[in-house]
Amino acid sequence: MPEASLRFYEELNDFLPLRLRKRNFRCSFSQGERIKHVIESVGVPHTEVEVILVNGESVDFDYALKADDRVSVYPLFEALDVTPLLRLRPRPMRSLRFVADAHLGKLARYLRLLGFDCLFFNDAGDGNLVRISVDEGRVLLTRDRGLLMHRILTHGCFIHGTEPRQQLQEIVQRLQLESLFIPFTRCMECNGPLAAEEKKRIEDELPDNVRQYYDEFWRCDQCGRIYWKGSHFRELRAFIDDLTPSLGKQ
Ligand SMILES: [Zn+2]
Repeated sequence: MPEASLRFYEELNDFLPLRLRKRNFRCSFSQGERIKHVIESVGVPHTEVEVILVNGESVDFDYALKADDRVSVYPLFEALDVTPLLRLRPRPMRSLRFVADAHLGKLARYLRLLGFDCLFFNDAGDGNLVRISVDEGRVLLTRDRGLLMHRILTHGCFIHGTEPRQQLQEIVQRLQLESLFIPFTRCMECNGPLAAEEKKRIEDELPDNVRQYYDEFWRCDQCGRIYWKGSHFRELRAFIDDLTPSLGKQ
């Protein structure tokens, strides 16, 4: 079988067995095999890859590997000026929206808190998640690399962290989301949009201490949940400010 030389950069190495990380290694392939398949065969989901160089030239996923090719594979948003190179997928999506895998419920709530449209289901199967991502143009968030190897998926994001706040920080940095925050415009529970609500219309629904101390309210258009800037709000506000120290308090 023919062999090529592969080298993966930055966090793409996390997907490789230890012995293959951060070094050139030889990899055998079948005649005519597409580079996308060879990359996934060593464990790296194609959604994590932004640029592929073969013998110094950028190629797309359909490139048929040849014997002794030298392949360099770079991750999404690697701090490398890739503008002159061939990108592997159209970017950016018209608007940045997400669908989160079942194990990322807390991350989904945090993204909603920051104003991002993020679908989340406890029981959507893998096939459904991929279909929603493709049909609705949503970035699929998951810690399941097998899911990201789905053939039709174009926009996915592997979440390396295990702790929800760390996961949020990771995705904010990787997708450069800071300038897109519109906190408290979306319901954390159901992803519906929030709209300002007059106090007098909802007074009967409020606990006594809330009615007494707060005058500004928002209601979720979708599930009816009412929001106000209580201690929970202040804690979340501080959390957002910690994520984006440069923006300061608003
Ligand atoms: Zn809601």
